[in-house]
Amino acid sequence: MTEYFIGVDLGGTNIKVGCFDQQMNLVAKTSVPTGADMGPEAVVERIVEAGNSLLKESSLKIDDLIAIGIGTPGPADYPKGIIIKSTNMPKFVNTPLRDMVASGLGNKPAILENDANVACWGEFAMGVGKEVTDMIFMTLGTGIGGGVVCNGELVRGVGGNAAELGHVIIYPGGRACNCGQRGCVEAYGSANSTAARATEAIQAGEDSSLKKILEKHREITCKDVFQHAENGDTLASEIVEGTAEALALMCVNMLHTTEPACVVFTGGMIAAGDALLTRIQRHFDQLIWILKKETVKICFATLGEDTGIIGAASLAQHAMQQGQI
Ligand SMILES: [Zn+2]
Repeated sequence: MTEYFIGVDLGGTNIKVGCFDQQMNLVAKTSVPTGADMGPEAVVERIVEAGNSLLKESSLKIDDLIAIGIGTPGPADYPKGIIIKSTNMPKFVNTPLRDMVASGLGNKPAILENDANVACWGEFAMGVGKEVTDMIFMTLGTGIGGGVVCNGELVRGVGGNAAELGHVIIYPGGRACNCGQRGCVEAYGSANSTAARATEAIQAGEDSSLKKILEKHREITCKDVFQHAENGDTLASEIVEGTAEALALMCVNMLHTTEPACVVFTGGMIAAGDALLTRIQRHFDQLIWILKKETVKICFATLGEDTGIIGAASLAQHAMQQGQI
């Protein structure tokens, strides 16, 4: 009998749900608006409805479903299956979402994990990490999310909040971060901080071709900064170098911490392509202790938009295989 798994990627705006077979081939998927304002019960109803309709669409019965995986934004309590809180979904506080969803889907075994860890697991199990046992994962977007896999297991820490890689301090006393610390990787290496550093430099009087963008649109995006760096603007190039150096420092620190086979970047910023990757690699090569130079591969993720649902389904399968659920 083929076994099937449902993966849920719960976001602040949309809920993506996918049905996978035991080889993690996608059988069917759907996306529905989250409607987080309506509160947990209404959201659970949407997840359950989407899950049941995918089973029906694939001519499967509830007994064909083996387990459910759910990825959620913000901190989650993995053992209890609870969303602790979420900035995108303020009505979700200590919400036992795992069991609420499971009860609508045949009371099947389920897991709930924060979305950064889920995406990390997806890339580890089915993407560029497929052949390795140890991997670091960083999402470069508005902020920086992270995931760490050691010896084939996600590192969760005592309270489930390990791998907050964006808040590792790389420049003590440096730029203020949203988390309240100073000098975090996120304050230099995220898309927002890249744009913010360019804006601040121009406002402080530095010359740049970005000045016209700021005057016209009243804001500069990370994409603008990379674009103008490519066109040879000196300030934009310096800013992008700063972003790459921060991320390279993080790679060095993580290499010395867990010795991963690869450090995988994903998120909106990887659209910059080689302009980002080659810079990170160059800074890394300059920073790293010579003896460890060749041991880590720095690369981009390959799974794309389905990472969340693949990761959630795959993590549920892994939890079953390990006897965790
Ligand atoms: Zn921080």
